[in-house]
Amino acid sequence: MTAPALNTSHSQAIFGAAQALMPGGVSSPVRAFKSVGGQPIVFDRVKGPYAWDVDSNKYIDYIGSWGPAICGHAHPEVIAALQEAIEKGTSFGAPCALENTLAEMVIDAVPSVEMVRFVNSGTEACMAVLRLIRAYTGRDKVIKFEGCYHGHADMFLVKAGSGVATLGLPDSPGVPRSTTANTLTAPYNDLEAVKALFAENPDAIAGVILEPIVGNAGFIQPEPGFLEGLRELTKEHGALLVFDEVMTGFRISYGGAQAHFGVTPDLTTMGKVIGGGLPVGAYGGRADIMGMVAPAGPMYQAGTLSGNPLAMTAGIKTLELLKQPGTYEKLTATTQKLVAGIKDAAQSAGMPITAASVSAMFGFFLCEGPVRNFEEAKTTDSERFGKLHRAMLERGIYLAPSAFEAGFTSLAHSDADIEATINAFRESFAAVA
Ligand SMILES: *Cc1c(COP(=O)(O)O)cnc(C)c1O
Repeated sequence: MTAPALNTSHSQAIFGAAQALMPGGVSSPVRAFKSVGGQPIVFDRVKGPYAWDVDSNKYIDYIGSWGPAICGHAHPEVIAALQEAIEKGTSFGAPCALENTLAEMVIDAVPSVEMVRFVNSGTEACMAVLRLIRAYTGRDKVIKFEGCYHGHADMFLVKAGSGVATLGLPDSPGVPRSTTANTLTAPYNDLEAVKALFAENPDAIAGVILEPIVGNAGFIQPEPGFLEGLRELTKEHGALLVFDEVMTGFRISYGGAQAHFGVTPDLTTMGKVIGGGLPVGAYGGRADIMGMVAPAGPMYQAGTLSGNPLAMTAGIKTLELLKQPGTYEKLTATTQKLVAGIKDAAQSAGMPITAASVSAMFGFFLCEGPVRNFEEAKTTDSERFGKLHRAMLERGIYLAPSAFEAGFTSLAHSDADIEATINAFRESFAAVA
């Protein structure tokens, strides 16, 4: 079935003008649709599970601003709380009681977190946590996994997943060799490779950092024993274990992936959901380690807008909404229904697919699978994904514009939204088969 032609003339005009104003016309690379082809859609407003573009086309959105919109976009209670808070000012640059409230909520929820420091983005949280594990252990090397993304700080721009993979930059120019010399990489789900790195670098590895469920190389789950194995190996070698839960925190469960899997790291980074749509990141963990952070300890890290009352308010209200009983059961049911429909639609069109979800996070690869690491993820049919993405867009469904990004559902996605989405998948798979 052919979809009605999508009129995106205003989007095209705005994006055209943006080319001369901002590199690639965007403020963050993946938004430019480079890997799926075609022009990006310029948004005008968002509400619940929907986004409207500047040509008044409506989409069911499965990106949710890349994660924060887990309660649905512009949730009325979040907006009301922000309206009240903004009357008292946007930034204090001084302690504010709202920081205590959000800190207490995070400490109560996330098993590894005994103390927390708020920052303004996931990138900032990951940069700081790397400095912290080095400060605490007195060691320089860090192990990360191929395809995992920990923000755009120099030390992490090695085999860093979607954003970089999509653009075909294995590394970024401008990152000095000396900066990444201490970044060791291993394939995801490969404990033997991690063991070998520890053996080759005795007493030199400060820690291991990973996405406990990968969302930046497509959606990849840890195999049974992988997280537990990393927990044991790091302990054995006097290194720290860091879960980057910027994406999974408060999404996989209220306590994040660590509560879901029952594996407690030493430190955790957060972002996305905890800011409820405003810029927030955080890192936290064992009190003895967090005691290294200035001004309690010698490890310097600071931020002009960190802990500002607006961001804290959006985070607090979002966590309050998520804490209500039944939240994660509902998110799980919604997402499972969607993924079952996607699989069925692909199979009906005779197309190979492997798809899965945990709670409100899902993904699919256009290959037989299983996909256990980034190498296997790359066997997905990216070219066909690009066509599928466009076909879905024409049918009013907004998917992440990359074959290597996880998808997100929200509390606002209704059964009817999911059914409409599955129908669009049926038509689109048939159209690109
Ligand atoms: C998004 C993301 C980051 C970076 O967060 P920003 O707020 O975009 O800087 C870091 N780690 C993971 C796992 C992420 O998904």
